[in-house]
Amino acid sequence: MPRLLERLQDEITALDAQSLRRRRQIAETACAPEQSLTLAGAAAQRTMLGFSSNDYLGLAAHPALAAALAEGAARYGTGSGGSHLILGHSRAHAELEERLAGWMAPFIPEAQSLFFCTGYMANLAVLSALGGAEAVIFSESLNHASLIDGARLAKARVERYPHCDVVALDAQLGACDAPVKLIVSDAVFSMDGNIAPVAELLALAERHDAWLVLDDAHGFGVLGATGRGVLQAMGLRSERLVLIGTLGKAAGVSGAFVAAHRTVIDYLVQRARPYIFTTAAPPAIAHALLASLTLIEGEEGHMRRVRLKARIAQLRRGLEAILPPDGSAWLPDSPTAIQPLIVGDNARAMRTMAQLDARGLRVGAIRPPTVPAGTARLRITLSASHSEDDVARLLDALGEALAQAWKEAA
Ligand SMILES: *Cc1c(COP(=O)(O)O)cnc(C)c1O
Repeated sequence: MPRLLERLQDEITALDAQSLRRRRQIAETACAPEQSLTLAGAAAQRTMLGFSSNDYLGLAAHPALAAALAEGAARYGTGSGGSHLILGHSRAHAELEERLAGWMAPFIPEAQSLFFCTGYMANLAVLSALGGAEAVIFSESLNHASLIDGARLAKARVERYPHCDVVALDAQLGACDAPVKLIVSDAVFSMDGNIAPVAELLALAERHDAWLVLDDAHGFGVLGATGRGVLQAMGLRSERLVLIGTLGKAAGVSGAFVAAHRTVIDYLVQRARPYIFTTAAPPAIAHALLASLTLIEGEEGHMRRVRLKARIAQLRRGLEAILPPDGSAWLPDSPTAIQPLIVGDNARAMRTMAQLDARGLRVGAIRPPTVPAGTARLRITLSASHSEDDVARLLDALGEALAQAWKEAA
């Protein structure tokens, strides 16, 4: 084997030895709570009940969206044919951007929006374009990897601030005399499910003349009276806001958007390389997303948000009743579809996951370095398409696993 291949293989073998090697499973059926999966190395498919998708409203396999995607493909074909600035910007993309701008207009004066192929690219674009050499980026310490990578791509200096610590951030901003400051935070934290103190962050942005860049990947579609996300839920309004929403999670399709004052959007079109130098997503995707927005803001979206809330309440009530009395597993405060059950050490997280697996249930086990040492967890995510029985099955299995672990420890 050539030396170059050997080096790679050595690293993979080391990951394997630490049980950190990642493997993919193959989904044989559409995204839904019950899904037929082929696991890595397994010969047969298994039907599993899953609690780890980001399909919070259960729209990823909605027949109306599949029909809209087919209609979009019939009208526009499959490929966009080019980048947005050359000839790939279709009527469907333009309509989607207009709809989203309208959605955000109550919260961002003179709002416009810009559609991206993925949220990852939208975050690279915003941070690299607004974070020029004269800027300083203030980055929340639990930010998503795509924001961290965006900050790396930016020429700006990067300062991290402690999780949700607005007092520390205030001091850091006060000590900085850069002409451009960006406060950058997830709106809903991906591993904990808690919501950032966005009103306080906006007040700091006003006081220190900074931008507030919010990544609403887990809030868009879910939070707010009509699903417009964290800004609607909190009733905020400012031209300092730069909001990124992703469209492959609750919206059930693919892509992302940035909403901001029209000058910011125009600047991104001129300067954001992850926007300029890539082929526009298929127009059919934008066409399907228009149908998704109609569902999200309508009666169906409302009913799905109500159902999701009921499942969240059911899970939290049920978990609180089965938490071990020694405090060795706990449930942080989270009002969202992301519900982490923290069990402490890695081995226990893996063991609990295996116990659930044996009963046909799939929950992600998240370990350091993704989360701080000693806070390995089962990251449970709920969807409006989970039934009351689905959640009851999970609670039943978790109750047994937690009781057994507690007995063994005692
Ligand atoms: C998923 C996610 C992204 C990336 O969005 P994609 O559209 O999947 O690329 C960005 N930020 C956060 C917080 C996310 O959870």
